[in-house]
Amino acid sequence: RDRDGLAAYTKDPAAFPPTVVLHADDNWVVIHDMFPKAIVHLLLLPRNPAINSQHPFDALFDPDFLASAKAEASKWRNFAASELRHLFGSESAMESTRRAALEAEELPSDGASLPPGRDWAQEVRVGIHAHPSMNHLHIHVISQDMYSEKMKHRKHYNSFKTPFFVDIDEFPLADDDKRRHPGREGYLQSDLKCWRCGKNFGNAFARLKDHIAEEFVEWKKE
Ligand code: 5GP
Ligand code: ZN
Repeated sequence: RDRDGLAAYTKDPAAFPPTVVLHADDNWVVIHDMFPKAIVHLLLLPRNPAINSQHPFDALFDPDFLASAKAEASKWRNFAASELRHLFGSESAMESTRRAALEAEELPSDGASLPPGRDWAQEVRVGIHAHPSMNHLHIHVISQDMYSEKMKHRKHYNSFKTPFFVDIDEFPLADDDKRRHPGREGYLQSDLKCWRCGKNFGNAFARLKDHIAEEFVEWKKE
């Protein structure tokens, strides 16, 4: 496994098709994760080599970079939310009022907007693994569902569903935050717990996967 594999995107984003690289500017490249662990799974890659070679916990101590990362996070959280709305809006109960208003063309004439529908941005997590496997700094933008054929191991699941996943809003981390010294905490080895209902599956990964598929059906319909 090439732990430097993310560098290529930041060096020459134009070398990749638009199905892989969603966006590139002077500071950031945004890509689809090659092994997505959920319905929507993007990676935000800072391009500056002086930044992306650092451990994320160190890089995010820089207030300028942290501000840039939070702004980028917010943009792509909204993008992911619009993807979810596009994919599942027609199945969502919370969207039905909005849908009915649209279909009836009963748009409020006083300039008021449509009923808001479902807040899909709440279904998106943005953050960083406490102990990343890939060397170049990357921020995950991932929908909550964990519904993916690429989600194959307990550590895949737990890396997103335990405190091993550090939300971008938690930065900068305190000096004594335990996650600065991962491994000892054993987050990746902890019991498998359903992200939606909390049911504990111990280490029964196949049973968790079946349950995740059932939860996916219900989650879409919220
Ligand atoms: P980490 O555990 O380091 O935070 O996550 C690294 C992420 O990069 C994983 O979600 C993995 O699927 C993804 N990944 C690994 N190699 C590649 C690659 O070559 N291209 C892309 N687009 N994603 C990759
Ligand atoms: Zn559940």
